[in-house]
Amino acid sequence: MMAKGFTSKLVHFQYQQDNQANNQSFGSIHTPIYNSVPYGYQSVEDIMDVFQGKTKGHAYARQSTPTTDSLQNLLTMLDDAFGALTFATGMAAISATFLSLLKQGDHIICSKFLFGNSYSFFTTLENFGITVSFVDTADVNAVKAATVKQTKIVFVETLANPGTQIPDLLNIGDYCEEKGLLYIVDNTMTSSYLFSAKAAKAHLIITSLSKYTSGHGHVLGGCVSDTGLFNWENYPHIFENYRTGNSKGWGLQQIKKKSLRDMGGTLSSDSAYQIAVASETMALRMDRQCESANKLAALLDAHPKIKKVYHPSLESHAQHEFAKKHFKHFGAILSFDLEDDVELVEIINKLNIAINATHLGDNRTLILPMAPTIFYEMGAQNRKTMGIGDKMIRCTIGIEDTQDLLDDFTQALQD
Ligand SMILES: *Cc1c(COP(=O)(O)O)cnc(C)c1O
Repeated sequence: MMAKGFTSKLVHFQYQQDNQANNQSFGSIHTPIYNSVPYGYQSVEDIMDVFQGKTKGHAYARQSTPTTDSLQNLLTMLDDAFGALTFATGMAAISATFLSLLKQGDHIICSKFLFGNSYSFFTTLENFGITVSFVDTADVNAVKAATVKQTKIVFVETLANPGTQIPDLLNIGDYCEEKGLLYIVDNTMTSSYLFSAKAAKAHLIITSLSKYTSGHGHVLGGCVSDTGLFNWENYPHIFENYRTGNSKGWGLQQIKKKSLRDMGGTLSSDSAYQIAVASETMALRMDRQCESANKLAALLDAHPKIKKVYHPSLESHAQHEFAKKHFKHFGAILSFDLEDDVELVEIINKLNIAINATHLGDNRTLILPMAPTIFYEMGAQNRKTMGIGDKMIRCTIGIEDTQDLLDDFTQALQD
């Protein structure tokens, strides 16, 4: 019987791949950690073929190892993609992708509600002669209005942090297809379990593996996968030497050579192993996290000390209907504004379970006030335009027992 479910396929993947393909894994249910840096060959012709791409093989661990390859195959399966590349971190995957595919004079369109470090990276690109338009991607018309002749890429995140905005994902996919623009979707906050970016016609999917994929707050990693929907033959910046073989693979080929090989943001085999093992419980963890987030959002939404709650499960959320239809759950990030007269520090310090920490998608509930931390450096004026209020608190829900979380917030908000 062929397993069809997300977790059934996930937990059997490495065992089946490694033992059916060559039966050299002694029945190991996990792909082992290969820590060799160079890979040796019996005859020089064999290594010549590997260098020339005539046979598949490993040459040097900066580009690939059997362990990172195996994780890449697993992630390809989860994203229903053509192929995938792993990186040392999510930011390494993002910077590698844009630096490999853009040239001076290009223009890109990004959502204005972005992960802060991605936003910062895009402002760095402007120093290299690439122009960036940050627009409110909740409406595809904003993307259309920002498009110019030089536009190459549209970049969005599925669920923004901390405000939980959701872009017009499907309409932007249709628009990019029509215009031949490369559509890159950062699916970190929803993951391949909650949302199929391929169904929205994304061409490249970026995922920080440090978040829900690994979930235990113990390892960093990033991934870019190619859904196979983009026609790379029409993309002007593919170097001549990478225009070989199936054109569906040209984009990843260039990202691999120009970034993994030349820039070196490589995932280690140790980390790849940790991520693969931890990913097995992704759906179970996210079911619990999202269920708790829904209940906590409802509790906070009804509380007199809370001014506003940001979570797509609430009917007041602008993209509630969209999320209900297209996401498996509403996500496990939840933010809220305290009423003006409620003491921010006091409430947070009264919580016993949530840890004061900046991270997302962890097994533990993490909490952080936004204005005095992540958004401190940018100043009050920028915070205002980004919708970050002085009393805004971000909470990323862990796998603790739901009732414990509800009880903890209830007591912290009591007089
Ligand atoms: C965390 C995060 C990243 C960066 O991932 P790292 O693995 O921490 O480098 C990128 N995008 C989003 C949406 C994130 O939440």
